[in-house]
Amino acid sequence: MRCPHCSSLDNKVVDSRMGKEGDTIRRRRECLKCEGRFTTYERVEEVLPSVIKKDGRREPYDRMKILTGLKKACEKRPISMEMLEKAVEEIEKSLQEKGFKEIPSTVIGEEVMERLHGLDEVAYVRFASVYRSFRDISEFMNELKDILHTKETKDPRKEHPAHKKPKKEEDDEQDKLNLPLDS
Ligand SMILES: [Zn+2]
Repeated sequence: MRCPHCSSLDNKVVDSRMGKEGDTIRRRRECLKCEGRFTTYERVEEVLPSVIKKDGRREPYDRMKILTGLKKACEKRPISMEMLEKAVEEIEKSLQEKGFKEIPSTVIGEEVMERLHGLDEVAYVRFASVYRSFRDISEFMNELKDILHTKETKDPRKEHPAHKKPKKEEDDEQDKLNLPLDS
C-alpha cells in the first residue's frame, strides 16, 4: 500500500472494519514517513493471512477448503448452499477481527465447529468426531455429552457410541453403498 501523499510503502493500520456486505474490509492507514492518513478497501480473502498447518507449514488461506469441509459435514442434511456460504462469511469475518498475523489451522477448526453447532447438530458431531480425533478424545466426549444432554434428537446417528469414532467414516461409506439396495 503506497501512501498517496508521499509514495512511501511504510504505514501502519490505525483502524479496520468490515464493509456492510462483509466481503470487504476498510482500513484506515497512517504513513510512517509523512504521517498522512489514507483509507484502503480490501477483499476479505485477499487480506486474510496465511494458515499455519499442524506440521508447521504455511499455506495461503483458502475459502474453498472451508466451504468443502462444511459441505461434507452437512451432506444429506437440510442445509442450503446459501447457509453454508453465509457460515463461511461469518468465519472469515471472525478470523479477520481476531487480527492474526498467521492463522493457526486449529483456530479455523474451532470456528467451523462453532458455526456447525449453530447450523445442524448432526453435521456438528460429524465434523467434531473427525476434528477432535486429532486432539483430545475426552474433549470430544464432553462435546458429545453436552449435545446429547441439552437436546433430545431422533436421529439414530446420535446413538452411535463416541468410542466407535474411527469406524464412523466407514459407517458413512456403508450408508452410501447400501442406498441403492434400500430403494
Ligand atoms: Zn506518506
